[in-house]
Amino acid sequence: MHEHTAVTAVAADRVTTADGRTLPAAVTLWTAGFAVHPLAAATTLETTGTGQIVVDDTMRSVSHPDVYAIGDAALVMGPGDKPLRMSCASGVPTAWQAADSVAARLTGGKIPTRRCATSTSVSHWAARRA
Ligand SMILES: Cc1cc2nc3c(=O)[nH]c(=O)nc-3n(C[C@H](O)[C@H](O)[C@H](O)COP(=O)(O)OP(=O)(O)OC[C@H]3O[C@@H](n4cnc5c(N)ncnc54)[C@H](O)[C@@H]3O)c2cc1C
Repeated sequence: MHEHTAVTAVAADRVTTADGRTLPAAVTLWTAGFAVHPLAAATTLETTGTGQIVVDDTMRSVSHPDVYAIGDAALVMGPGDKPLRMSCASGVPTAWQAADSVAARLTGGKIPTRRCATSTSVSHWAARRA
């Protein structure tokens, strides 16, 4: 294991690191993680330590009520008060929740109160919304 090591090249039998080392490798496993874009944390919006915008159950910023955040940019609490993981499966339902909330506030309609959950499929979420 070579933690916190930037890689500059991968060949069939070796990996080259940014500090110039060559690591022999019969197999190289290449994985990826993802992080929140730094844009939100650079604003005056209330954000978490990871840079996600803190929102209520309608995806509205808790510090700026005219701002809605969805997807990876938002810290969305799901069932059991656990944050939804960053994923497409969470991003799509949060987008729908924000759209429904904005429309309801503009038209005087019913504001959605059901918490977002990570959807296993679009049809699953559509059934929840019905
Ligand atoms: C390798 C990988 C594999 C993944 N696999 C899965 C998976 O199997 N299932 C799953 O559910 N999720 C998966 N994810 C996670 C999923 O892709 C993200 O959670 C999801 O795309 C987040 O959607 P988003 O709309 O919030 O952000 P994004 O999809 O990142 O969209 C943000 C957009 O904003 C644009 N942007 C950035 N800055 C600016 C700016 N200043 N002005 C204008 N536009 C800007 C970007 O170009 C981008 O198009 C994976 C992610 C990665 C990296």
